[in-house]
Amino acid sequence: MARTDVIVLGAGIVGASVAVHLAKRGLAVALVDRGAPGEGTSYGNAGIIEGNTIFPPAFPRDWANRLRIVLKRSPQANYHLAFLPKVAPWLAAFFAASRPSRLVETARLMRPLMSRALAEHGVLSKEAGAERYFRHTGWLKLYRSDRAFAAQARELEFAKEFGIANVPLDYEAAHALEPSLAPVFRHAVHWTGAISVSNPLAVTRAYTALFAKLGGGVFSGDARTLRRAHPHWLVDTNAGPIDAGDVVVALGPWAPDTLGPLGIELPLAVKRGYHRHFHAEGSAALGRPVLDAENGYCLTAMEQGIRITTGVEFAARDAQPTPVQFDLLLPAARELFALGEPVESQPWIGARPCFADSRPVIGRAPDHRGLWLAYGHGHWGLTLGPATGRLIAEMMTGAAPFCDPAPYSAERFAR
Ligand SMILES: Cc1cc2nc3c(=O)[nH]c(=O)nc-3n(C[C@H](O)[C@H](O)[C@H](O)COP(=O)(O)OP(=O)(O)OC[C@H]3O[C@@H](n4cnc5c(N)ncnc54)[C@H](O)[C@@H]3O)c2cc1C
Repeated sequence: MARTDVIVLGAGIVGASVAVHLAKRGLAVALVDRGAPGEGTSYGNAGIIEGNTIFPPAFPRDWANRLRIVLKRSPQANYHLAFLPKVAPWLAAFFAASRPSRLVETARLMRPLMSRALAEHGVLSKEAGAERYFRHTGWLKLYRSDRAFAAQARELEFAKEFGIANVPLDYEAAHALEPSLAPVFRHAVHWTGAISVSNPLAVTRAYTALFAKLGGGVFSGDARTLRRAHPHWLVDTNAGPIDAGDVVVALGPWAPDTLGPLGIELPLAVKRGYHRHFHAEGSAALGRPVLDAENGYCLTAMEQGIRITTGVEFAARDAQPTPVQFDLLLPAARELFALGEPVESQPWIGARPCFADSRPVIGRAPDHRGLWLAYGHGHWGLTLGPATGRLIAEMMTGAAPFCDPAPYSAERFAR
């Protein structure tokens, strides 16, 4: 049996970052995944490291928008009717957390973590030699109507308070920045400080390679074999059972499969999302990700092509894919940008692991000595992976954490 100090379960962007930070602090670490690193949710995101983001995605407040969603006419959200009763308690909590005062509270509680996002990626990408995937060109949010633009005035006010750089633009100025965008929008905001990546999978792979270079071990194994062998923890891997005093669960949307049998039931839901790559027609190109705010999709230039990512879908994590949102958003996307043929025959599907208050869980598992949690990063997992890795590694090694971890504790659900 191999003995290590810490087992990290899940080699997505969060687990890989946690493993690197622990290894950098001199611990012997085993990183265990049942698949290849980075091929879970972390494979398919929009590639935006959104340190600028202030408010989390919220339940729509206006009836017209809600009605469009109910009638399945909105590209922003889809649902499986039969799944709604199951997710109803979570949706009720999400609705409550979408009150304006609660959104401000979330923004303030998330800021310490968000404000480290860019810098922590900066450190890891440099050490991992992955800088070629990082674009320091910000991202653009586009607004087709004056009303939609006016609706995010509060975000700009808070950006001022938090010192987050942005430049509001009219169509002409946005076009000067992104000449391939058609004049179908009236306003844009350029969040100049944000970073984007051209290949999220390659970034997780690079961080995993950095971890291995630091002496960490990468193993294939099923996290659901995790069990107590007092006073330690054991997990089975391709190299036999591994034993450690501490375990970090960084399994993203699959965390409940391992935590449930241990009696840990935290209220996680998934917001499923899809992506598909398209060839760009002619010389059309994008220098930064673009969000079409009213239509809820994002366009990002990836190594594989122009990646369109969808809004959210409420359905069982493992239910058959139903990528109907593409039918609604593709006409708008083609109007905005010269998309050619799709690269793949089918869209990719992923599941954002989300708590209703849009905060991840980072810290000790209640009542389980040596068990640590780092999951539930929702829409911001790529952004927050390295900052999460640093925070939990500081907590586990008894160093002063760079921010107060209390807002991310699992205990908040017991109150
Ligand atoms: C369409 C879409 C767009 C997004 N865009 C952005 C964006 O622009 N910016 C951003 O910051 N975030 C974005 N996100 C969110 C982000 O991708 C996720 O929050 C993040 O990838 C979660 O990372 P993770 O490491 O927690 O989980 P994952 O990447 O899912 O990693 C979990 C790992 O656990 C492994 N695993 C599962 N079960 C087991 C088991 N039984 N045994 C062993 N291993 C197991 C999996 O193989 C996987 O590798 C987006 C998400 C989606 C779906």
